[in-house]
Amino acid sequence: MPTKNAHHYLEVPRQEPVKKRHDLRIQSFGEIYTQYENNMAVSQANRCLGCGVPYCKWQCPVTNHIPEWLKLLSEGNVIAAAELSNQTNSLPEICGRICPQDRLCEGACTLHDGFGAVTIGSIEQFISEEAFRQGWRPTVNVPPTGKRVAVVGAGPAGLACADILVRNGVHPVVYDQQPEIGGLLTFGIPPFKLEKEVVLRRRAMLEEMGVTFILNHRVGKDTSLGQLIEAYDAVFLGLGTYAMRRGNFPGEALPGVHQALPYLVSNIRHHMGWMPDGQEWVQFKDQDVVVLGGGDTAMDCVRTAIRQGASSVTCIYRRDEANMPGSRREVANAKEEGVQFIWNAQPEAILGGTAVTGVRVVSTEMGQPDAKGRRTPQVVPGSEQTIPADAVVLAFGFQPNPAPWFTQYGIDTDETGRVLAPAESQFPYQTTNPAVFAGGDMVRGSDLVVTAVYEGRQAAEGILQYLQAGISQPAAYGNLSGESSPCIR
Ligand SMILES: Cc1cc2nc3c(=O)[nH]c(=O)nc-3n(C[C@H](O)[C@H](O)[C@H](O)COP(=O)(O)OP(=O)(O)OC[C@H]3O[C@@H](n4cnc5c(N)ncnc54)[C@H](O)[C@@H]3O)c2cc1C
Repeated sequence: MPTKNAHHYLEVPRQEPVKKRHDLRIQSFGEIYTQYENNMAVSQANRCLGCGVPYCKWQCPVTNHIPEWLKLLSEGNVIAAAELSNQTNSLPEICGRICPQDRLCEGACTLHDGFGAVTIGSIEQFISEEAFRQGWRPTVNVPPTGKRVAVVGAGPAGLACADILVRNGVHPVVYDQQPEIGGLLTFGIPPFKLEKEVVLRRRAMLEEMGVTFILNHRVGKDTSLGQLIEAYDAVFLGLGTYAMRRGNFPGEALPGVHQALPYLVSNIRHHMGWMPDGQEWVQFKDQDVVVLGGGDTAMDCVRTAIRQGASSVTCIYRRDEANMPGSRREVANAKEEGVQFIWNAQPEAILGGTAVTGVRVVSTEMGQPDAKGRRTPQVVPGSEQTIPADAVVLAFGFQPNPAPWFTQYGIDTDETGRVLAPAESQFPYQTTNPAVFAGGDMVRGSDLVVTAVYEGRQAAEGILQYLQAGISQPAAYGNLSGESSPCIR
């Protein structure tokens, strides 16, 4: 083990795990970062100053005990580090891979300005991976309470909720309409950021702990929420946000124009051999591709198109690079992989007839900051130009899509469609139906894996308090058949 001295952070520079060469990595869909060797992980963990005021921890949505697990690892105790890491985060091996650490823990690290932040994300990933490799698994150490909770949605929010419930002796039964767990982790985020085997391994661990999954099962169709409320002691909803924003300009319906999420999902299904009968793989080999948008979803689309063998891939965004929402790391990766960026260009129309031929854009310049502090783009008159394209992907983000059955069961939303489930209430994340809790993107709006994990965990705490209070369940709202569904376990 390397010995630590007070100047270790000066002598050992920040060093990320080796990234695969860009010309090689674009030939496959595998993750692009390799994992640390043990000595490197220990040496990098040793760079932590233990500065006494753990800004990294406070900037982490789940308040990970970062300095403590860095210290445990640097002392050679990877199993204790993994135990501690899994105490505050239900998916640390996943957050280590895909959290925007530059905006969270690493951005807050005392060494960030001047010396290079401790590589917290890569070390978080290493700790879990190494502990798993050595055979460590999270365990449940409490007797069953006999209580059962239905969790609807197997995305990060639902998985985190199930994790806390099962660790407290409550049996979670998780329903999802998809054939596999993970939500956007599985059916959204491309494998070059998160290989799906990582999610499947977490599924096996949760099942081992006592979580039941009922997949290919849509609540609202195969089972009603009312049936779940009757059959279980409480219900958690973590349904995500899936209404795609539109650009509202001509040409969006032309053949050759694709929405980002179906495009990404089609590629993942193809890659994993999960393509349903009758559905076609959307792929852009030898095509000129234009992706509209500047967030993480846009970055995932451009990098997927590059790997599919597109002739050219261009990302068009209406603000400048400094004001784009996408992670800096992913923009840098996209540039290395050959993506062209046109900043300060606003799409006006997608052109073509029986097929797309291009995108007409107008230049913008950055105006005054809006209420959120982001500078608004101002159109420069007379600056129109056409960017040629064979295929266009729209990546403008997502809006809440409240289910039509929410009102039937007394679940209120705000004016934008987000479910009302306040953190600050007697039972955190309880909706306006007392037996129903909610969290993740459907409550907060599209955000991050780690914030969905946080809300799922907090909602589980709310459910545990609610169950402990022994409040009898209100009758479910609306007309119920009274029959229990064959899938209610
Ligand atoms: C392309 C893309 C890339 C992203 N990249 C990152 C990233 O790099 N880092 C990051 O931190 N975040 C990223 N995000 C955001 C992150 O994935 C989400 O914030 C997070 O997954 C939200 O978790 P959730 O559990 O609230 O919802 P989801 O992950 O959306 O899961 C909701 C689940 O509910 C299920 N469901 C919905 N309705 C029903 C129903 N009626 N019956 C049964 N099941 C139902 C869905 O099938 C789904 O499995 C990305 C998002 C996208 C779209």
